[in-house]
Parts: sequence; C-alpha cells; structure tokens
Amino acid sequence: MQPTNKPSSWLQQQALLHPERPAFLWKKESWSFSLLAQLAQRYAAYYGAHIPQNTKRVALFSKNSPECYFSITGLWELGIEVQLLNRRLTEQEWLFQMADAQTIFLISDEPLAVPDFIQQLTIPKTLPAVPETHYIDKGYQEQAIASIMYTSGTTGRPKGVPQSFANHQASALATQQSMHLTQADCWGFVLPLFHISGLSILLRSLRLGLAVYLYDGFDPIAIEESLQAKQVTVLSLVTSALQQLLPYLSATGYPQLKTLLLGGGPITRPVVQQALAKNIPIMPSFGMTETCSQIVAVPTDEVAGKIGAAGYPLHGVAIKIGDPKMAPGEVGEIFIQGPSVIQSYLNHSQTSAWTQDGWFNTGDLGYLDGDGALYVKSRLSELIISGGENIYPSEVEQVLLQHPSIQEAAVVGREDVRWGQVPTAYIQVSSQVTLAMLQSYLQQSLATYKQPKEIYVVHALPKTASGKVLKRLLLTEERVKYIDYPLGT
Ligand code: ATP
Ligand code: MG
Repeated sequence: MQPTNKPSSWLQQQALLHPERPAFLWKKESWSFSLLAQLAQRYAAYYGAHIPQNTKRVALFSKNSPECYFSITGLWELGIEVQLLNRRLTEQEWLFQMADAQTIFLISDEPLAVPDFIQQLTIPKTLPAVPETHYIDKGYQEQAIASIMYTSGTTGRPKGVPQSFANHQASALATQQSMHLTQADCWGFVLPLFHISGLSILLRSLRLGLAVYLYDGFDPIAIEESLQAKQVTVLSLVTSALQQLLPYLSATGYPQLKTLLLGGGPITRPVVQQALAKNIPIMPSFGMTETCSQIVAVPTDEVAGKIGAAGYPLHGVAIKIGDPKMAPGEVGEIFIQGPSVIQSYLNHSQTSAWTQDGWFNTGDLGYLDGDGALYVKSRLSELIISGGENIYPSEVEQVLLQHPSIQEAAVVGREDVRWGQVPTAYIQVSSQVTLAMLQSYLQQSLATYKQPKEIYVVHALPKTASGKVLKRLLLTEERVKYIDYPLGT
C-alpha cells in the first residue's frame, strides 16, 4: 500500500480539507481552520522547546481564552496528554489531582506558587509563525489519552478519568448523528474547557469540522445577541444557566437555533417547560466525565412528550437497569456500555465500577420506559430509605422548586431512630414563605412519608467547583455554615 500523507492530527486534517472555514470564534475575533492549525503549531513549537523531552502528561490551569485553546491543541500536536484542572478548585485540591496523576509539569494562565518538584510555564500571548514544512504531527492516536479530568467530587473524592481520542471520537460521531450536525453549524458555549461538557465541544469541532463560539463568561445579554445575530446554531448550557438566560430570550424563538443542549447535572422540569413555552429547541441529556459528556439525549421534537426523561441512548450506547436486568419501569442502578465510555479510572482505581462482562455502573438510579427512554431518579448514595419506602430526593426537590418562593432546593436523608431516615430540605427563597404555607403546598403533591420533616432556609447551598450541590456536606456539621434559620418547628 502507498503511504498516505494524511496528517493524524484532526486539526490539520480540517485545515487541509477546508482551510478557510471558520473554526473558532471569540468576542469579535475569528480563526479559520488553517489559522487555528498555525496557532496550534506555534504553541506546539514553544511547548516542545520548553517541556522536558519524554514528558507524557502536563496539567493545565487556565480560564477559557484563545491562548488556552491554542495550548491544548498545541500539546495534542506534540502527543502530550493534557490534564485539565478545574480553576475553581483550591490549591490543595488541584495539587492532590496532580499528585494522584503523577503530573509534574504545570502550564497556567498566571504564575502560581507550587512545590519545588513541579515545573511551571505560563501560557504565552504571542509566538512567532511556524513554516508549514515544520508542522509537528505526533498526536491524535486513537488509543492515546487526549485528556485527563477528575470527576466533580459530588459523592466523594474525585476520580481521575483518562479520556482517549477514540472515546472523544465516538462521542463526536454519536453527537453528530443525534443532533444532525453539519459543517455549517456553529456551536456556542460558556462552559469551562476544564469541564468535559466544554472540552468535548472543541473535540467535536476538530473531528467534525464545525465552528465553535466560545463566550467570554456567562452574559445572558451577549448570548441573546449572538442568537439574534444568527451566529450560533447549537448552544450548550447547564440548567442553572438556562434558568438565568430564559427571561432574556424572545418568545418567538430563534429560527437558526437547531438545538440547545442541556446537561451536566439534573434538569429541572420548570426549566424544560419554560424553554418549550419560548419555542427553544432544547435537548435534555445525561452524561458523565467517564462517558466523555452526553451518552443519552432526548431529540428536540420529542421533549414535550417526554418531560423528565434524560433521553435515549446515543449511537453505539447500550443501557440496562440493574444487574441482572430489570423490566421497563423498574428503578435500579444504571449500567452503560459504549465506545465513549472510558476503560478504567486512572491508576486503575475503583475497578468495581465495571462488571466482569464490561458494563460500567454509573452509580445513578433510574428506569427505562416502554419506549426505551431513560429517566434518572437519583444517585444511589443519595437515595433516602424511610420506613422501608424509597424516597428519591429529586422528586421532592422538583415539587419544592415549583413553589414560587423557592429558588433552589436540596433534600437529604437524615438519620432517624424510628424511620431509619427522614427527608430534610434545604431551600433558598426568593420571597418570604412560612412553614404552614409550605406544608399545605407539599401535602397536595407528596405522600406524607416523602414530605420533608425539617426545612431550613439557607443563603446558599454548598456546591462543588463545577456547581453541583454537595449534599454530603448537608449531612455533616458543616451544614450550619449555610443555614440562615429553620423554617418554624
Ligand atoms: P463524582 O463522580 O466525583 O461524585 P460527579 O458524578 O458529580 O462527581 P460528573 O461526571 O461531573 O461528576 O457528573 C456526572 C453525574 O451527573 C452523573 O452520574 C449524574 O449523577 C449527574 N447527571 C448528569 N446528567 C444528569 C441528568 N440529566 N439528570 C440527573 N443527573 C444527571
Ligand atoms: Mg460520578
């Protein structure tokens, strides 16, 4: 067979196929695939000269910025694994993640005080051009690790997740099919690149040849303007961001907006209903760091008939409930298989998450309906068992959130001598509400055993660096830091 000159780099492939097509937009600037490939090469040349030879992995600590993107793509051209550190973590937390991954080289957007054994570089702003004849092309090997991220740490210590190019490719191709993506699409997002929901969008752009529009932080007005200007055809948001954006959105919708992908954590029903009322083509989804973002999603035209569903399995994904498998409608642990699911955690920790025959246990509880749509009820670790009855905290939270005075709600199971556990609610309110008012409201929608036995008003809920409620803290003495007052007695 004749050797081909096709580069293995996804970015260089796109630059060869359609050099002038827009690849990356940021504020008022834009880069075509050929310009982006050039920038990636400048950063590859710089990092290649400054990072010790044979370095397998580097950590990256940066806000979203063009230079952060150029750095990631430059490191991939060099065949170096990029460990993305959540910039909202404390120093102790990200140093733990570096130590756990045995990463000793750090690239950051500002100089940081680090222990002596860590070498450090700051991301350069400008770099000299590289002639095309000198382009480096050592990366993007299918089974090679592209990125390492730690899970959010919602249920315990974060786990190291090595995501291969093959995992990302499977996720990109399945997403292309479920969203009917074409190369004319432009995908907007405010999500951090250090989170899988953000990074996966860049990988889709590089693999599929579509443009990405990276917003400079969450500004509902700027997002609405870009929708008006028809710049963005796909938008990714987490539920809380959509909730804040909704009042700014036009009631007539945006004809060029194909999909608003919603994911990253639990999706509340009121948000779905409000988005539908504004003709926003939302696509609820479910995924994890371990699955390289969404693995199930609800097609936009089916959302109205499947409110509360997390979605149908994407191409190549298999789902079963329980081990052994349970019937439709029965709630059990959610097991998944598919090419975007990682093969093991870093350092081969927590091997118990995989069954002998290769199913990955998500740690979440849910059920499949008769049509094969998945509904996520709760994390197994957050399930409340009271007097032998199962209480799914999300069910109680959804009811609380539909009360006009409640902005945020978290329900956890408190130990109880008589019942084993009883539900306790922590709520953030937007207007005054009394215990009697809430009790009569809850009685209308929830069986007595599901009604919270204690309700606390908080000024904020404890959250992980990626914005998820840290329910495990609400079960420790730390909870008092968040409580303003108990709602009656
Ligand atoms: P850790 O594994 O360290 O406890 P984490 O599970 O929160 O952290 P992520 O990978 O960021 O880390 O989140 C994946 C989890 O988010 C899923 O396992 C699930 O519990 C939750 N999740 C994601 N999408 C949905 C959804 N649509 N509905 C309900 N929960 C969801
Ligand atoms: Mg998890």
